Amino acid sequence: MEEKNYQLDLLKAQNAQLSKSEHIYRIVCESSDYGYIYQCLGGEDVLTFGSFESMFGLTLHRTRDFDELLEKFHEDDRKAIRETLIPEENSREFATCECRSANGHIWYRIVTRIERSEDGVFADKDKIITFMNITREKAQHSDLLYMAYYDTTTGIYNRNYFVSLLTEFIARADVDKCRVSLLMIDIDDFKKINDVQGIIIGDELLQQFGFWLKGKMVKDRIICSHINNDIFCVAIYDASGQYSVDNFYNDLKKRFSEPFVMSTGQEIAITASVGVAEYPDAGGSALDIINCADIVVYNCKKMGKNILQYFEAPILDDFLKNVDIENKLKEAAFNNNFMMYYQPQYVAKTRRLRGVEALIRWKDDSGKMIPPSVFIPIAEKNGLIDHIGHFVVEESIKQYKKWSEFYNMQFKISINISALQYKKDDFVDSIMTIIDKNGVDPSDVELEITESILIDDFDSVTAKLTRLRNFGVGISLDDFGTGYSSLSYLKKFPIDTLKVDKSFIDTVLDDASTRIITESILNMSHAMGFETIAEGVENERQYSYLTSAGCDVIQGFYLGKPLPSEKIDELLSYMK
Ligand code: C2E
Ligand code: CA
Ligand code: CA
Repeated sequence: MEEKNYQLDLLKAQNAQLSKSEHIYRIVCESSDYGYIYQCLGGEDVLTFGSFESMFGLTLHRTRDFDELLEKFHEDDRKAIRETLIPEENSREFATCECRSANGHIWYRIVTRIERSEDGVFADKDKIITFMNITREKAQHSDLLYMAYYDTTTGIYNRNYFVSLLTEFIARADVDKCRVSLLMIDIDDFKKINDVQGIIIGDELLQQFGFWLKGKMVKDRIICSHINNDIFCVAIYDASGQYSVDNFYNDLKKRFSEPFVMSTGQEIAITASVGVAEYPDAGGSALDIINCADIVVYNCKKMGKNILQYFEAPILDDFLKNVDIENKLKEAAFNNNFMMYYQPQYVAKTRRLRGVEALIRWKDDSGKMIPPSVFIPIAEKNGLIDHIGHFVVEESIKQYKKWSEFYNMQFKISINISALQYKKDDFVDSIMTIIDKNGVDPSDVELEITESILIDDFDSVTAKLTRLRNFGVGISLDDFGTGYSSLSYLKKFPIDTLKVDKSFIDTVLDDASTRIITESILNMSHAMGFETIAEGVENERQYSYLTSAGCDVIQGFYLGKPLPSEKIDELLSYMK
């Protein structure tokens, strides 16, 4: 009896458990996003549940109702759906397909699973068919696909896809025995546009230009890509006739002759430097050609921008030479393997020594003198300028201290400062520390800066100049006349001295208009309280003319070349 009661209780408990599980399954199924068809035990009867009804507005009872269901799908997909709903062979455990709604707007995935019976044999037609709405998944996939091929800012090809298309062009050109031309287009001074107008406008400009390029694409012939930032690439297959490089460049220049109009109404005019490299002349692979075009663009920038240049061997030689210099320069900087030369500056009227300009010199390990006009720009590009600049300041001030003490003389020591060096946050502090450490009078120190420093953020430039000025250090503006600044613009900055660029001195005697400009620079500078220095004075005639035109100080080969410190020693002891 007890045993019976126990069995009964067990059965009740099991039943309760079962109906609880069934209840849970029902809740899960009914709240599922999926729709289901269950085909019972090999018969004709089917059950639908889950979201099936809301998905298709249908309830099915028999397998022959499947025809009604098929109506709900796109015509082109019905065959695949039928094969999924009714897999031909009983042995198939699993069938699936992706298909669209009749209007094509919704995507479904259908999965049919045939149940195994206990003994592992597939029970005929005993199956579960699941319907999933995968429209969102499909959209994401096509977004990803888009991002894999296109640049999201401009809508033209991205770099990776462009490289693979260029590779295809090259393979095809091998067969057709023709060329592939690559144009790398680098927008001039884009950084300035970004800095002045802000990155939103910068991006809009890139977008507009990208959109223009998109319109230049020709199937199988011209492809365009946004490589990065302000750099775009165009590849032309078999450039000739209507699709020649010249034609493309002319169109580009025509486009640039009109400004781009931003959504804010602002008009922005741009130019670009264009480097052209061609397969097979410039290299054998897509990346080789892109690299060559990149080197040409770099060359265009050096030549003053807004031009198109073709790749040729000397450009590569130059580039490799620079790479070689760069490697040697790293080693020289590590060992401070530089020397300072000093060029005297004289008061024009009295020929009294006004000061010396410190100029760096570097002999590479083969003993060849590399001019600073070559290696300073390289050092600015790779960051070595900080180290080199620090060496220059320290060495020159130490040397000046020795001279001023030994000869008991006071004159100016002028030190060239690179714009990148000046931009460093700790620049002013490090100058002051070196001057203090060496016990030099700050008013004997003069820093030569160029206009490129002044076009940066006005407040921070002025704050630094003012601190230096208050400390006693003089500021001299080098190469004046070559940049964009007018004298009235300069008036805003605390500057003491203007150095009139050598290019004016070179032609001042032969060219009337240079003469007028030079004289007006000298007159206006004086009216504004600047001291003036003429640099690069090479002969007596230039010297006399500049002196009579009122120039304060003369520097140049005529009165003295840059000399090593021992030679300046001789000069100072002679003067004493
Ligand atoms: P810069 O500051 O304009 O220096 C004047 C350049 O003109 C010097 O060339 C000098 O040797 C040369 N020069 C002076 N008088 C005459 C002349 O009568 N005729 C001719 N033909 N040339 C004359 P250098 O020493 O080759 O320096 C070239 C440039 O390299 C400098 O131009 C300056 O921008 C940069 N540089 C030189 N030393 C340093 C340095 O220590 N630090 C930095 N940041 N830049 C330096
Ligand atoms: Ca200078
Ligand atoms: Ca100069």
